[in-house]
Amino acid sequence: MITTTLDQLIEDRPEDSAPVVLDEQAKREVRRACLSGVCVPGYIVPFGSREMPVARGWGSGGLQVTLAIGGPDDSVKVIDQGDEEGVNAVNLRRLIAGTLRCRTTADTLDASIVQSRHRVPEDKLDADDILVLQVPQSEPLRKVEKSVYECKRRHAEADYAKMWVGLYEGLAQNGVISGGAGYPVMVQDRYLMAPSPIPRWDIPRLDDSDHLTLLSHGRDKKIYAVPPHTKVEPLTFTDVPFEVEYTAGSRCGLCGSDDTFLVETAAGDYLCSDVQWCLKVRAGMADQDHRDRSPLHLLPDPSRRVLATAGTKRRSWTAPPAGVTAPGEEWSIKVSDLGKTYRGYRGSSEVVAAAAVSFDVAPGEALGIIGESGSGKSTVMRCLIGDELEATGAVFLGSVDEGRTNVLDLDPAERRALRIGTLSVVYQDPAAGLDLGISAGGNVADRLTAAGWRSYHAIRDRAAELLERVEVPLERMDDVVGQFSGGMRQRVQIAKALATDPQVLLLDEPTTGLDASVAAGVLDLLRELLAEREIAVVVVSHDFSVIDALTDRALVMRHGRVVETGLTDQLFADPHHPYTQRLVAAAKH
Ligand code: ADP
Ligand code: MG
Repeated sequence: MITTTLDQLIEDRPEDSAPVVLDEQAKREVRRACLSGVCVPGYIVPFGSREMPVARGWGSGGLQVTLAIGGPDDSVKVIDQGDEEGVNAVNLRRLIAGTLRCRTTADTLDASIVQSRHRVPEDKLDADDILVLQVPQSEPLRKVEKSVYECKRRHAEADYAKMWVGLYEGLAQNGVISGGAGYPVMVQDRYLMAPSPIPRWDIPRLDDSDHLTLLSHGRDKKIYAVPPHTKVEPLTFTDVPFEVEYTAGSRCGLCGSDDTFLVETAAGDYLCSDVQWCLKVRAGMADQDHRDRSPLHLLPDPSRRVLATAGTKRRSWTAPPAGVTAPGEEWSIKVSDLGKTYRGYRGSSEVVAAAAVSFDVAPGEALGIIGESGSGKSTVMRCLIGDELEATGAVFLGSVDEGRTNVLDLDPAERRALRIGTLSVVYQDPAAGLDLGISAGGNVADRLTAAGWRSYHAIRDRAAELLERVEVPLERMDDVVGQFSGGMRQRVQIAKALATDPQVLLLDEPTTGLDASVAAGVLDLLRELLAEREIAVVVVSHDFSVIDALTDRALVMRHGRVVETGLTDQLFADPHHPYTQRLVAAAKH
């Protein structure tokens, strides 16, 4: 059926008829996307095009590129899983040859365009050649990030911490680099790419190559490119060498090669996954330089290997060095006349959620904000974190521009960056501060890799140290946080928040969701942790006993305004405002 349709499309067509598969308009669009890809190596370029007369997932992306860039003078090689004789390869080749009216070839050295799935050929491609890869998954971040919008933002900000966490998780689980196709690489030190069809073995062939590589995904309609002589570097920690796939002692059962990418057969022996190369070796016609081009220097070496247990050794807690005070400043965070008004909906009046809120917090000091539900505590907290836009007033951080810049004026990306090393948050709901789908260690690694940590062992040691300090048993370090109890999740969140020794810590109802006895334990832990370090803390709670346990000074908020301030002890012992008296009475009850 497919064959008949193909014949009608291609072979029964008169010599002078118009191309049948892609019209000129569509070809131009694809070429334009290819050019954009070449201009910004590794950047994913969307394009529009017609559907191809092949099933999605059968190479429609590669087909569109080959048909758009090829012509009658080309010589096209089509391989699928390293083989030219699969149904898919045969049909794509016929469709391409019939449409472009070009020659086809099995010999890589004779081809000007190689359309491939799964492999970069073992033979060397040169400067006149174009490698077209059919991509099964265009977005490298999709494995670790579900939101398309977030993926885009992360590329724009070169924020690839999640990918590093993915690598950390793989190493923590397996002790070695694992995963075949789709290994993440950095292109020209800027864009993350997962050359998803090819094995790790072929990644070195994309680095500083003489040929152009175009990668295309038909269903997503995305193209990206690796132009000649582009740096393509596999992501790896500084102390974990990148390795290619290899089984010790394996050789091709047909040609005897031990320097090609070998696949294991059902019978348990190995074969070259590049059929043409294997034939050449057997015919004694193989290129003698091949061995030098093979990634033999990247074969797994057990002597360099990371052990799964690395970093889980017990160690004593060392408190961070005390006192990071900005020069000439007494405070780490200063809030001045902060205000936020919500516009009313459908004629309802405006809500002044916060007005004229001012305070500052010194290193080593903890300030409480207390009020009943709706008093504006969370609004103030969101303004500090940067989640609330259009706030009035100013927020200064001692470590940002020596306290001279109003961080409310920074753009969202700059404010997000502050949350990595400067200002940490512990949310009421652990799910807001953690990824419940990854391990406890991975969650701490998330913050550390975002801060630029690139040593696997250092990350693991630091995570172990922090988790031990918050009393998460080390044997649970590699367990997924989603399996933890509420109290333990909150402890992991605290460990993550402290990972980079931030100058300011914001605690938003840190114990509200927990059972009373668990909450008491977390409160005790927080009190100890705060006493150990010179960190400025803001604690928001509706519960005076939490404020009493953790803070030195407190603000009492009502209807968005501060109605009373003072030392926490005094407020608790001798509240003046009737509203404060009510809150205190509730806590003492
Ligand atoms: P708290 O955390 O102390 O319970 P909030 O800061 O959440 O108080 O809320 C303060 C006031 O602002 C409340 O009256 C609340 O209804 C209002 N508010 C909070 N968020 C919004 C919003 N997104 N839109 C409109 N009104 C809001
Ligand atoms: Mg609230």
